[in-house]
Amino acid sequence: MIYRDFQGIQLSMLGFGTMRLPVLEDGQIDTALTQTMVDYAMDHGVNYFDTAWPYMQNHSETVVGACLKKHPRESFYLATKFPGHMVAETYDPADIFEQQLEKCQVEYFDFYLLHNVYENSVGVYDDPRWGIVDYFVEQKKRGRIRHLGFSSHADLPCLTDFLDRYGDKMEFCQLQFNYLDWTMQHGKEKYQLLEQRGIPLWVMEPVRGGKLASLAREDEQRLHALRPDDSIASFGFRWLQSFDNITMVLSGMSNMEQMADNIRTFDHLDPLSDAEQDIIMEAAERMKNSVPCTACRYCCDGCPVGLDIPDLLHKYNQLRIGSGSSVKMQLDALPKEKWPEACIGCGACAAVCPQKIAIPDQLAAFAAELDKVPSWADVCKERAEAERREKASRGR
Ligand code: SF4
Ligand code: SF4
Repeated sequence: MIYRDFQGIQLSMLGFGTMRLPVLEDGQIDTALTQTMVDYAMDHGVNYFDTAWPYMQNHSETVVGACLKKHPRESFYLATKFPGHMVAETYDPADIFEQQLEKCQVEYFDFYLLHNVYENSVGVYDDPRWGIVDYFVEQKKRGRIRHLGFSSHADLPCLTDFLDRYGDKMEFCQLQFNYLDWTMQHGKEKYQLLEQRGIPLWVMEPVRGGKLASLAREDEQRLHALRPDDSIASFGFRWLQSFDNITMVLSGMSNMEQMADNIRTFDHLDPLSDAEQDIIMEAAERMKNSVPCTACRYCCDGCPVGLDIPDLLHKYNQLRIGSGSSVKMQLDALPKEKWPEACIGCGACAAVCPQKIAIPDQLAAFAAELDKVPSWADVCKERAEAERREKASRGR
């Protein structure tokens, strides 16, 4: 395992992100598999676990705490976050913090973050009525937080402004950072900003919610010609290994295969070669045209018609790379009120999307494209008709 030094402690460069824990058929977290994954991670040198109040419909902290309970407290580093980015009537950091300690069954957090400081939430973190930053600085003085930082999906001006005002209190910063966002979300400039301020980068969405775990066939073939046995995701992780100011790479692992693969990738430092780098950057250029949803699900709760927005956007991306029929087939399995045309365009989703996706527009465009694709039933009918014609012509 690669370790990176942070103020004298050695953190595994691979951290277990717990936003996408494995689930059972009924949608509940698969706690048995999660326990197996936590134990496997610990056995293989992973010592950092990242959770948050809203992850897994508010259950991640409880499950992660329970799974870590069997391990000595000093053998792992636990991080969670204050949900100031969630829209609420009032914010009570003390109440949330006490609940988090209880849910996680710990007496202190090694790392604590202000969750998603961005254009719409920075006012909450600034608001003297809630006193959020002061409260957590105080908890750090009391030893209930060892290190204080923040995560962010903000654009560069907001990020810069926040660092200008609070940078002296923030020991680390968690950003979405990967080879697609190097240019798409000003990753390069954000990296340089943190480096200038002497703040180490914690990486989230290193493979963009799985989007960089598979590429266009041609790009995959070029990468596999160089390293046939490596997963496509591993190239994204190895791209990160060349950055000295990255301390932590959080991967939201959902199964043992992903975990074992990631642990292999972080076994030793092995940054991309120039040839590999060229291929992934070319792939990124082509991908920029797709919808950059990371499946964080922040938009889902506020949708008045209950659309599964990330799933629909994922389907739209599939359609855009030429999988129209199979997308139509998947949609055929859903009631019409869950299709993209059910969107009433209220915009509640776009207002909270950290990726700043114009969701109503994308859903409208998706609906328009779908109209051009025959239904799966029609495709099947056509195929049957073609077979019948072929049989008839053979019989003549
Ligand atoms: S715009 Fe559509 S998807 Fe977004 S919240 Fe409104 S109804 Fe839901
Ligand atoms: S559309 Fe935006 S908020 Fe919704 S899941 Fe995707 S990235 Fe998250």
